[in-house]
Amino acid sequence: MTTELDRNLAKAEDYLARFRGGVLGHFIDGGPTPGQGTDTFENRSPVDDTALNRVAAGTAADVDAAARAAKAAFPAWRDLPGGERRAVLHRVADLIEARAEEIALVECLDTGQPLRFMSKAAVRGAENFRFFADKAPEATAGLSMPAGQHLNYSIRQPMGPVGVITPWNTPFMLSTWKIAPALAAGCTVVHKPAEWSPLTAMLLAEIMTEAGVPAGAVNLVNGLGETAGRALTEHPDIRAVAFVGESRTGSMIMRQGSETLKRVHFELGGKNPVVVFDDANLDRAVDAVVFMIYSLNGERCTSSSRLLVQAGIHDEFVARVAARVRNIRVGHPLDPATEVGPLVHRAHFDKVCGYFDLARQEGATVMVGGAAADAVPGGHYVQPTLFTGAGNAMRIAQEEIFGPVLTVIPFADEAEALALANDVRYGLAAYAWTSDLGRALRLGRDLEAGMVWVNSENNRHLPTPFGGMKASGIGRDGGDYSFDFYMETKNVCLALGGHSIPRLGVA
Ligand code: NAD
Repeated sequence: MTTELDRNLAKAEDYLARFRGGVLGHFIDGGPTPGQGTDTFENRSPVDDTALNRVAAGTAADVDAAARAAKAAFPAWRDLPGGERRAVLHRVADLIEARAEEIALVECLDTGQPLRFMSKAAVRGAENFRFFADKAPEATAGLSMPAGQHLNYSIRQPMGPVGVITPWNTPFMLSTWKIAPALAAGCTVVHKPAEWSPLTAMLLAEIMTEAGVPAGAVNLVNGLGETAGRALTEHPDIRAVAFVGESRTGSMIMRQGSETLKRVHFELGGKNPVVVFDDANLDRAVDAVVFMIYSLNGERCTSSSRLLVQAGIHDEFVARVAARVRNIRVGHPLDPATEVGPLVHRAHFDKVCGYFDLARQEGATVMVGGAAADAVPGGHYVQPTLFTGAGNAMRIAQEEIFGPVLTVIPFADEAEALALANDVRYGLAAYAWTSDLGRALRLGRDLEAGMVWVNSENNRHLPTPFGGMKASGIGRDGGDYSFDFYMETKNVCLALGGHSIPRLGVA
């Protein structure tokens, strides 16, 4: 009997055929190119650790070619009326939707993310393009600031060619989240995707070109972070770098970009708390707590990886969470029943498994999971895992594990909950569950995170600011915030003509 998994696999193989066994190159100045170097690296399947394809390891010369193309394309793209940029970006969204199945299936096999989540990747990517497309006509708008004998007005102008460097966890969606506002603002782009999941970036480059984004306005250079990524952050023609990835990579990029005074935008790691009080709607809280760490394999920057539970409900609440975690279905990412798929790469699997040993060494209890899973032979599967009896100082409570692993810590009262929640180097997202309005408002104010969700899982609204405090980032995306990054704000001051000008050197 043919199952849904078999059907998905057959379709995925059709889409993957063009990549299998070949060398994935770059996309520079309007078309694919093998690049100037000869080095390649392997892209392996998280499903069973077999080889998928090889990838060209872009060189500084490739990055230079892409940056030159972006520079040459910039004036025409910048000067295109906003309404025309809007039309092109809506066509990008149309074509993303038309290739949604291909994007989803390729993304699943490249990242290991389950289809139940990735089936929406293309839709979210298209939404990003539509949202910023509609903002393109007003992107340059500014303020009028009359001041006595002068009229000041501000305008915004696109920065120029920008670099976009993305991670491997949800690559297609994150690439659109960065590239769509850059193009809407009138910037041109050089994109360096992550080496562990490079496939859908090529689909996006093709789609944008087919939709009418001119040659050179978007370029793609594959390669390693230390070479291609580094060259991009150091290139003098690249005016700004939008980076999503680990905090320590952000530090490196800041150093690398310092010589050319790069403007940087960083969306980095997190160790996000979800704080559950005894007055919360616990049914809804259980759903959200489980969803926010075990969806997307836990490879999610906004995952709530630290569960802080009030002492009076601790045992009951943790038992309810544990019962759910034991039921989570680990399996092939293309099986529609799968809730947790394989981790992206053997090295990441080893890292996550290392925390299972560490939890035991640190004296926490491994209440659920804590070992590899054998869903498909050779694949990077781990059991959804729950650590209890943890202290906030333990490494399992402080470090970003980036897998389906939740650490539980009890607290006595609001003051302690807040202290524990904030006692971490990160500050990306925080979640609070309470029915006390005053407490919700206090937590919204006092939690050290760029985004606080009260009585909700991570629910995105594109006009709102997205980003982190502390080691979780610099800058905000979303709505107009994205344009603040990709554009220069210029002030123009006009005299009405009557003010007195200090006169020097008058005889
Ligand atoms: P990473 O930092 O290892 O790599 C990200 C990208 O940076 C890759 O393309 C890589 O090649 C490149 N890179 C590496 N070294 C570089 C260098 N020296 N110069 C220039 N580029 C370089 O991150 P990852 O492991 O791919 O992704 C996981 C991380 O991303 C997690 O920490 C996660 O929290 C974070 N993340 C954050 C957000 C957010 O919005 N805050 C979203 C998704 C992922």
